Amino acid sequence: LSITDPVESDRICVCVRKRPLNKKEMAKKDIDVVTIPGKGMLLFHEPKQKVDLTKYLENQVFHFDYSFDDDATNELVYRFSARPLVKTIFEGGMATCFAYGQTGSGKTHTMGGDFSGKNQNSSKGVYALAAQDVFTLLKHKRYSDLDLCTYVTFFEIYNGKVFDLLNKKAPLRVLEDEKQQVQVVGLKEVEVSSVDNVIKLIEKGSACRTSGQTFANAQSSRSHAVLQVILRRHKCLHGKFSLVDLAGNERGTDVSNNDRQTLVETAEINRSLLALKECIRSLGKNNEHIPFRMSKLTQVLRDSFIGENSRTCMIAMISPGMSSCEYTLNTLRYCTLMNGC
Ligand code: ADP
Ligand code: MG
Repeated sequence: LSITDPVESDRICVCVRKRPLNKKEMAKKDIDVVTIPGKGMLLFHEPKQKVDLTKYLENQVFHFDYSFDDDATNELVYRFSARPLVKTIFEGGMATCFAYGQTGSGKTHTMGGDFSGKNQNSSKGVYALAAQDVFTLLKHKRYSDLDLCTYVTFFEIYNGKVFDLLNKKAPLRVLEDEKQQVQVVGLKEVEVSSVDNVIKLIEKGSACRTSGQTFANAQSSRSHAVLQVILRRHKCLHGKFSLVDLAGNERGTDVSNNDRQTLVETAEINRSLLALKECIRSLGKNNEHIPFRMSKLTQVLRDSFIGENSRTCMIAMISPGMSSCEYTLNTLRYCTLMNGC
């Protein structure tokens, strides 16, 4: 699969990635209820109970464009999901890649990778791998004459509000003009010329994402993070790759345990994930009406859902344990609805 291969005609690609059971789950004797039998397929073994209370597992089959088992590397996942979209932005289009799933399922691991150094197998995620391919293509003879410059933005959407991760979490306003062009006013766009530049910005932005809060991680799991790699030609927008680490899709089903703030956050997340599904579906059907105003997330990403040359890829992250069963099914159903359109 070469990076300069023709872009496939499919505008939407939906993949699923299973992470390994972690130490905590193994210590609790959690059972792995997900198997990946082959390309694109996923088997979910749903725990059920008969009337006489004997327990059994019921198999359900799901189909995706690609399914990745728990031994897949970030590189492999990237190669079949986001990588085919890099060319799109050189051809003047919009590319978007989403990481979807419950908190702890591997979204940030997949998108951001791990540069902490604590991990021996420190690895690049989709952000850095995509940036690497962008810099490779910039030098390719087909595009080197275009005089393209590369910029990066990194922001967070929390509770329907936008915060600049490259500028101390400054709150930003979103404006829409009469031509429905959406602008995030004052969003910092940093020019970059190497993958190392981009990795530094990812580190800076990610640190900003989780610092300064008492429940830092809890908060970051309730926000969407958007990294954009932007190509400009003589300052004019040429193409844009938006890479989105979505908020955890767990529902606040246990209302008694949730305070008001949490319920408001949850409602906002549910609204934005529903809006996202609707927008991607209309992209697949070439619909005239795209309900992008349904949420801040889809409003900010409006460009991703319009135009002849927009392509989207969704990576659904799956925790394999029986204890995550309910959330896993939610994820599988959400992404199946998107597939086949
Ligand atoms: P999320 O962003 O969806 O909340 P994370 O990416 O933070 O989840 O992952 C939770 C934990 O699981 C992290 O410690 C991460 O390193 C680990 N993890 C996630 N996916 C994988 C994977 N495919 N292989 C190994 N470890 C993983
Ligand atoms: Mg995360």
